Order: sequence, then structure tokens, then C-alpha cells
Amino acid sequence: MRLYYRLGVAAEKPPLVTRTDLYDGLVVNAHVGAWGQGWVSILLQQLGKPFIVDPYTYVFSHATDSTLRPDGDLRKSFEELRPSLPPILRRSLDEKRRIIPSDLRDTDGGYTTALPDVVETVLRLERELLKGPTLDQTSLEGYLALLEGPKRRSKVSPEYLIPPYFYIDNLDDPWLDVTLRCADIATRTASQAEKVMVKLAMSVDCLRDRDLAPMLTDRLHDADAIALWISGFDETEVATGTIDTMASLIEALADAGLDVHNHHGGYLSILMSRNGLSAVCSGPGYGESREVTQVTSGGGYRKRWYYPTLHQPIDEPTFRQFFSDHPEELACDCDSCRGAHETAAALSSEGTPEFVENFIEAMTRDDLTAHHMQCRKREVLEVTNRTVPELVGQLDEMHSLAEKLHFERYEIPYAFLDRWARFLEGYQ
Ligand SMILES: [Zn+2]
Repeated sequence: MRLYYRLGVAAEKPPLVTRTDLYDGLVVNAHVGAWGQGWVSILLQQLGKPFIVDPYTYVFSHATDSTLRPDGDLRKSFEELRPSLPPILRRSLDEKRRIIPSDLRDTDGGYTTALPDVVETVLRLERELLKGPTLDQTSLEGYLALLEGPKRRSKVSPEYLIPPYFYIDNLDDPWLDVTLRCADIATRTASQAEKVMVKLAMSVDCLRDRDLAPMLTDRLHDADAIALWISGFDETEVATGTIDTMASLIEALADAGLDVHNHHGGYLSILMSRNGLSAVCSGPGYGESREVTQVTSGGGYRKRWYYPTLHQPIDEPTFRQFFSDHPEELACDCDSCRGAHETAAALSSEGTPEFVENFIEAMTRDDLTAHHMQCRKREVLEVTNRTVPELVGQLDEMHSLAEKLHFERYEIPYAFLDRWARFLEGYQ
């Protein structure tokens, strides 16, 4: 199981730079890459990690909220992306309207020549967007990074190319065929050395459709990988039946020889490595599920501490209430928490509400992210090395503890622990 992080704002950079041992690769959305082209391409050169440019084309078939600012102007990131886009997508930005499948079809129902053009332009964008800073983008920081040695400059091509993709509501949605047709064109036109990852952005209804798995394995046999994005698939809320369906889909795709990634997942996805899921991606320190309708923005930063045995983050106000009542639960031996623990211990007695207060005060944004990344890495190792009864036992134990400590009084959800445990048992 490989761990990817989605690159958002520059403020998230430090732990990704200092803790390269904790993850395997990065996903950069095209508009984020276009906006931060200078620092992102330098970062990728410094890291030498595999990366994927997500073309994010689904936004053009969706409401315009993601591409426009509240005042109706184009968001800066899409303004930067605009010149690299195929004409039909550029027009959709200019006219502030979403594209519809018939924009790509002839009067007789076939696809227009615009479609191969869209695919070709989008793949070119992914290949070239983060190749490296151009002369006028090369800041002093850039020069210094480039001078650090040739090994740091080696990886500038994306690990996978993602053909244009659009959001699919149900299996009769015309965007499904457009997405698969784009995948066909990409697998035919990509070079031998390039790997094609088909991204499927779809509803939970699609996931539940029994025809999905056979249709995908039939139509995607030339692709190398598939990235799933089930809109709003919140691992803590989905019902057991839906979890089973997700696992069966992953098994079918992996059996067909595809490398299967989940682009928005957490611990449940890590558990699904046992079903053949090979990689999971999330934001660094947050953002495990995402709705397609969610507006793209930097968003405000909230302090959250990932509760290791619950496999979920706890927001700061809840953190203070809960751990002040149960300070013995505030246990993590990662180096970020150890530092904050020492600071808090110097100021207050362990096991007191003051200690809990000092602990969370001492955790910086980078500490909280590095803690989350260390937990995630540990989860991968545990799921790989432990038996199913051991993993089920851990989930059940935490579920009992949550009942005993009345998590519901703090509005901390925990019912999912039982659903995850039962799912895992079913796959022994
Ligand atoms: Zn920690």
C-alpha cells in the first residue's frame, strides 16, 4: 500500500519536505500546479518523489462555483490554467458555463474531432506543467535547489497520465462514455514509457450498480491504473453493504491487472489493501472524503489532532473537552507529539487539564500534519503485518472504550469502528 498526499497550499509544504520517509508520492491538481508553478515544480525537483497531475477536468462539466470567485470573476488558479487548456474548456471558462456531453458530439451522435484534441491537450498539459521553472520563474530559491545536485532533478515527469474525466452520476450518464472514450484515446496515444491512470469520479449510486465492475474491466483493459473518487464516500458514514461493494469493485479491478488507487481515502481504504487497493491519497492532515460539489479553495485552517486508535481527527474544541476529561487517552509516541509532550510537561503536571491545554498549544500546524503522516504510515505497516483477528480486535477494543467513555457526549462518532471490524471479518 502506497501513500500519496494531495498538494494544496504552500503552507502545507514543510512536513512534505522534511518527512519524505512517510509517504510515496504526491497528487497535484492542475489548477494548483498552474497557480503555484514555480514553487511546486521546484518542490517536486527537490523531493524526487513520484507525482501525478490531476487534470481536474470534471469541474468543467459541473457547476461553475469551483472555477469562479464569489464576485463572479475567474479564480486566479483557473486563470493561470486557462492558456494550457483545450479550446472547448477554455471557452467554458470564458463563457462561464459548464460543458455538456453534446458539446463533444456531432449531430449524428458520434464524437467530434474535438475529443482527441481535448485528450491530447490535457495530456500535454500534465507532461509539461511541472517540468521545471522557466527562466523568469526561477527565483533565488529555485537556483539554490537546482544547484543542490543532479539527483534532485531527476524526476520531472508524472508517474501516470490521467485522461480527461467527468463526473458520473449513474451508469446511463453520457459522461461515462465520454470518460471511457478519453481513456481509450489516451492509451492509444501515450508513449510506451507512459502509464495511463483512468480516473473515475462518480456517485455512490454508481458504486452500488452491479454492472459497474464488469463494464470497467471490459473497457479498461489497456489502461495501467485506475483512480477512484466516490463523491462524498465518507468512510465513517458509509453502510456495511456499500463498504462490501467498494471492496468487491477493487478486487475485480485488481484481478483485471489494474493498479487501483483511491484518491480520497483513510484507514478503511488502508484496510482495503487486503482487497487489492494499491494506493490511497488524502490531503496532508485532513480531507479524506470529498464531494464533487465542494468548492475548490484554500479554505481556512483548523487545528485537528489525529486520534491514532480512533483513526479519525479530532477538532480542537472537542480535543480540549475530551482529553481534559480523559488525559490518559492522550497517547502518541511519534516525534511530533513527544516534543509537545515535553513542552507541556515542563509547564504542567501530566494528566491534568492544564497539561492537555499546553499540549495542544505546543502542537504547530506542521507538528499536527507530521503526527498525522506518522500515524498513517504506522497504519499501513500494521495492516500489512498484523492478522485480520488482530486488526478486528483493535477496532473492537476501541469501540468498547468509546462506549465506556461515552464518546457520544463529546459528539465524537465511533459507530464506524464496528462496521469496519465486521467488514474486515467478512473478508478473512
Ligand atoms: Zn503523534
